[in-house]
Amino acid sequence: MGGPIDQARLGAALARLATTPASRILARPEQTALAALSSRGLPSRTVNGFLRPLLTALLSDPGLTTSSRCADLTLRGYARGRLCVPSGGSATLPELLAAALPPGTVRTGVHVTAADITSVRTKEHGELGCRSLLLATGASAAAELLPGLRVPPFHPVTVLHHTAPAPPPTGASLLLDADRSGPVAHTCVMSEVDPSRAPHGRTLITSTVLGTPPPDLDRSVRAHLAALYGTPTDDWELLCAHHDPEAVPAMPPPHDLRRPVRLLAGLYVCGDHRDTSTVQGALFSGRRAAHAILGDLGIRPGRPEAELREAA
Ligand SMILES: Cc1cc2nc3c(=O)[nH]c(=O)nc-3n(C[C@H](O)[C@H](O)[C@H](O)COP(=O)(O)OP(=O)(O)OC[C@H]3O[C@@H](n4cnc5c(N)ncnc54)[C@H](O)[C@@H]3O)c2cc1C
Repeated sequence: MGGPIDQARLGAALARLATTPASRILARPEQTALAALSSRGLPSRTVNGFLRPLLTALLSDPGLTTSSRCADLTLRGYARGRLCVPSGGSATLPELLAAALPPGTVRTGVHVTAADITSVRTKEHGELGCRSLLLATGASAAAELLPGLRVPPFHPVTVLHHTAPAPPPTGASLLLDADRSGPVAHTCVMSEVDPSRAPHGRTLITSTVLGTPPPDLDRSVRAHLAALYGTPTDDWELLCAHHDPEAVPAMPPPHDLRRPVRLLAGLYVCGDHRDTSTVQGALFSGRRAAHAILGDLGIRPGRPEAELREAA
């Protein structure tokens, strides 16, 4: 991180970015995030010691091959709001959205096997009729159901959860490995951030490995965590490890942040693969799709609920 002067310069750069309008960022020349980092006018120790590992973590992209515009937007989000996780786990957000809808609107655990504008075939409930279809899956599932949709390359991510008898002394900070001295890109004592995620009375350490995981995953991660936290990890217990080969759609330059969500009247698609590869991007694309549907149904957004229900 460098000394106080370096930190002040970094703080000033982040404060400037926080107030930069998105339109100005989208008008900047587009290159890879890695190439853009070296032209930010910050000392290399700030770039290599903090910005590079932070962006690697935020984008799940160890090579920083992401479009510099997407990287700047992501860094701007960090500068404006810092880091957070939803209390109770990431399922909390969709649960809150679903709870705001009339009971019975959302059915979960239903596998769609075929879909078109007028009907959806499901494994569990046979065929369901519809007036319009909005497909809100990941990119590969969307292309399986609607052949012809673009499938981007992906950044694989592996997340490991360990429990420990006592918390390492880092508090709720996120540890970034700027030295890339092992497989872990970033790690934190999650029970210090959100105690509701941890097994009762235990410390929960959540760590992320980017790219293809090593064959001896738990052993090499455990050794790396011992070095990062400066404490033995032999008595830590691996609760689970999730690997997702299609975790995050890659966004190399040039990246289209506003891929069409309206394929034709009655057929729509949304998800992170239509916007930026983040929860926020997925939500933006969902809002664009909702506006397109309302437009095709002849309803302006913000109309009374009864009118919306009638149209549905
Ligand atoms: C480990 C990991 C960590 C991440 N960390 C962050 C982070 O810190 N910040 C961030 O902004 N983003 C993060 N992301 C990315 C973020 O989770 C995604 O960008 C976001 O969830 C995409 O939302 P989505 O609605 O497009 O797709 P999804 O969240 O993938 O939702 C698609 C849904 O469609 C369902 N589905 C698929 N096929 C079918 C079918 N045939 N029938 C019925 N349902 C189907 C799936 O079950 C799934 O529920 C992370 C991703 C992973 C994997």
